[in-house]
Amino acid sequence: MGKVMFWFVAVFAASSLLLCAAAEGGKRVVVVWSEGTEPKNVYPDGIKGAIAEGLTKDLPDWEVVKGGLNDPDQGVPDDLLKRCDVLIWWGHQKHGLVKDELVAKIVKRVKEEGMGFIALHSSHYAKPNKALMATLVDDPNKAACSWGHYVADTTTTDVKVTDPKHPIAQGIQDFTCANEERYGDPYVVPKPLSVVFEGVSHMKNGQTERSQLGFTWEVGKGRMFYLQLGHESKPIFCDENIRKIMANAVKWAAPEKK
Ligand SMILES: [Zn+2]
Repeated sequence: MGKVMFWFVAVFAASSLLLCAAAEGGKRVVVVWSEGTEPKNVYPDGIKGAIAEGLTKDLPDWEVVKGGLNDPDQGVPDDLLKRCDVLIWWGHQKHGLVKDELVAKIVKRVKEEGMGFIALHSSHYAKPNKALMATLVDDPNKAACSWGHYVADTTTTDVKVTDPKHPIAQGIQDFTCANEERYGDPYVVPKPLSVVFEGVSHMKNGQTERSQLGFTWEVGKGRMFYLQLGHESKPIFCDENIRKIMANAVKWAAPEKK
């Protein structure tokens, strides 16, 4: 091989490698997980399907992956978790079936490696949510992750933006969404960095009650967001405002690009 040819091949090979690296590093990954108990008449492809549909439109540069409890490795195999930038979690009746081994891996990815974690509605009691919250306190009672009350007496909730400068609130004005089940304050969790949203729920008896809806924390190197809305009987995750909140939350929770 002549000298010129050698350099041509060498430069071509080097630039190909760079291109590959750029392509691999270019797409961020969000995994949307729901346990699979969501009613098919409201969510034909589960809550994971509805959220993924919104994120695919709102975050075209992202790879959006769906996972569920009945999938191999409970929907979050090691190789996927390793490249996941943000994990979104919706669980309700089957928290206890999620393997402790998987929970420990999720906590490690958030705390030590900066993966974002978003817990939705009844995932306040999900194992990964509770385990992550527990890392922020010395007394487990301060991270019970319980709400004051749980009541299916609601028609709509008026969502109020309480931290308008927060990236998760960008482009969101106060709005109203259908909501059958609300949780009442207090949410027993470590002090959040921000309460981005609060809500006023309209009850079927004509009364209203205010409660906190959206919270953020930092857990080690990772960011966490919890949204109280998301009961499975209404298509809340098809609401345009909720979808915008989800896309904003994913961008906010993602670690900085390496
Ligand atoms: Zn619910």
